[in-house]
Amino acid sequence: MTPMFFEFATANRIVLGDGAARQVAPAAQQMGRRALIVTGSTSERCKPLCADLSAAGVAFCTFEVQGEPTLDSVGRGVAFARQEQCDAVIAFGGGSVIDAGKAIAALLTNQGELMDYLEVVGKGSALQIPTAPFIAVPTTAGTGSEVTRNAVLGVPERQVKVSLRSPLLLPRLAVVDPELTLCLPPAITARTGLDALTQLIEAYVSIRANPVTDGFCEQGIPLAARSLRRAYNQGKDLEARRDMSLAALFSGLALANAGMGVIHGFAAALGGRFAAPHGAICAAILPYGMEINLRALRARAPQSVALRRYPEVARLLTGRGDATAEDGIAWTREICQELEIPPLKTYGIGEQDVPTLIAEAAKASSMKGNPLALTTEELQEVLRRSMNCM
Ligand SMILES: [Zn+2]
Repeated sequence: MTPMFFEFATANRIVLGDGAARQVAPAAQQMGRRALIVTGSTSERCKPLCADLSAAGVAFCTFEVQGEPTLDSVGRGVAFARQEQCDAVIAFGGGSVIDAGKAIAALLTNQGELMDYLEVVGKGSALQIPTAPFIAVPTTAGTGSEVTRNAVLGVPERQVKVSLRSPLLLPRLAVVDPELTLCLPPAITARTGLDALTQLIEAYVSIRANPVTDGFCEQGIPLAARSLRRAYNQGKDLEARRDMSLAALFSGLALANAGMGVIHGFAAALGGRFAAPHGAICAAILPYGMEINLRALRARAPQSVALRRYPEVARLLTGRGDATAEDGIAWTREICQELEIPPLKTYGIGEQDVPTLIAEAAKASSMKGNPLALTTEELQEVLRRSMNCM
């Protein structure tokens, strides 16, 4: 038996529950003189939070991030925060908004420019100084970014997405309030929920899985399996929204500590080149990534722990003790159909893109937890089948 050795890191403090968003103002009161609230294009939704902050005597100003964050939008956020003399950051929105908030909080205290700290396109220097105090308040149930230590940023001129990574990016406070997700439209519920499910499954079969992340995956997969359809069909069902918020939180805790595999490897490569939402990409690839991993493990790594994990995933998804690995894959294919996840070709991804995407996915850091290295032919098959849903 190999000796056990692992590390687990998360946000300093996590508050979860109905109405948890009311905890933001008292926490912000102790964090700084003036807070920057980072929101998405629907900043209407943070009016109750703004009212709470005003009532608590916390000074603030708001900064909107449109779509997924880029070097440019983060740069503007930092400049605005400096001009307004903000010394704390509250991100209120989906994964993109939280990632933007993390990067802005980091650049408020660390010297130099964002480029100095970015992997792949920049110098990749380590952040040296703790970020400005940072609170993450997710309004979707998906990425789990409120408990991860990276921020994904787009560099449109290079057609890539890269990460700012550091343990210092872990938020000081993560506030998970299922009530904030009640008004999410079905399409966003579907793709963010399937992102969470993909993260739970990839972390569970990852070569870096550990007993702590396993616990989150074993609890999180059944929560998403029983409640994602309900949250999609009846958005106001609070019980289903609670399950999905918890599943998303668990997926973030698992991914930040166990890593991801082939599906997120492709999502990283595709995300920089095509205007496709991260969750929709992951969902479209999920059944094929599982199927081809399973086949490759049976052929080349019959002793692998991950091989025993796939039937377990199937049991967690279906609730049936006799479910096989294939039943689990069929379950993911069915839910993607039911929730109307489009094939990747919808986003203009075609045969001409296959070689570049394979090369980029193979070296993506998100690929590193995959239970085994896939061949070029296997990677091509995953991508081609996800393009056409077949
Ligand atoms: Zn993801």
